[in-house]
Amino acid sequence: MVLLGGSGVGKSSLAMRFGRDEFYTTSPTVGCAYMTRVVHLSDVTLRFEIWDTAGQEKYHSVTPLYYRGAHAALLVYDISKRETFIRAQMWLKELENQYIQGSTVIWLVGNKGDLAQNRQVSVQEGQGLASHKGLFFIETSALSGEHISELLQSVAHRVYESIG
Ligand code: GDP
Ligand code: MG
Repeated sequence: MVLLGGSGVGKSSLAMRFGRDEFYTTSPTVGCAYMTRVVHLSDVTLRFEIWDTAGQEKYHSVTPLYYRGAHAALLVYDISKRETFIRAQMWLKELENQYIQGSTVIWLVGNKGDLAQNRQVSVQEGQGLASHKGLFFIETSALSGEHISELLQSVAHRVYESIG
C-alpha cells in the first residue's frame, strides 16, 4: 500500500495508525518510511507493506517507482484545506498517465475529519470526484482514529478481490 497526496495532509499519521494504531503529535513526516500490518478477513490473512513518502512530495518529486506495482494506493487530501483537494486531482492525472489504474486499487481519502468545523471540501465533492474517477472514497481522522479500521478492512477486501 502506498500513500500519496500533498504535504501535510496526514499521510505519515495515517501510516502510523495503520502500523501501530498510534497518533504522534510531533510531526511524523521524517519518522516513518515503511510499516507492516496484518489484516484478517473471514477466510484469509493479508500482510500489508505500507510505504510512506519520506517527505519527497514537498518537492513534487515522488517517483513513479514508488507506487508502480502497488496493490493499493491511498490518495489523501485534507478536508480543511481546499488546495490539497486540487492537488489530489493533479495526482490523479499523473496516475492516469502512469497507467497504474488497472492493477492498483485506489482510494480517495479525505483526512482530518475531526476538523469538520473548518471544512473546505464537502463530503459530496469528495464522493463526486471519486465516483467520477472510479475510485473508492472515505473520510478519516488519523487524530481520532475514526474510520481507520474500516478503511483497512475495505482495502483488504478489495485487494483480495483484485488479486484473488
Ligand atoms: P504528511 O506530510 O502528509 O505526511 O502529513 P503528517 O502526517 O506529517 O501530518 C501533518 C500535520 O497534520 C501534523 O501536524 C499532524 O499531527 C496533523 N494531522 C495528521 N492527521 C491529522 C488528523 O486526522 N486530524 C488533525 N486534526 N491533524 C492531523
Ligand atoms: Mg509525511
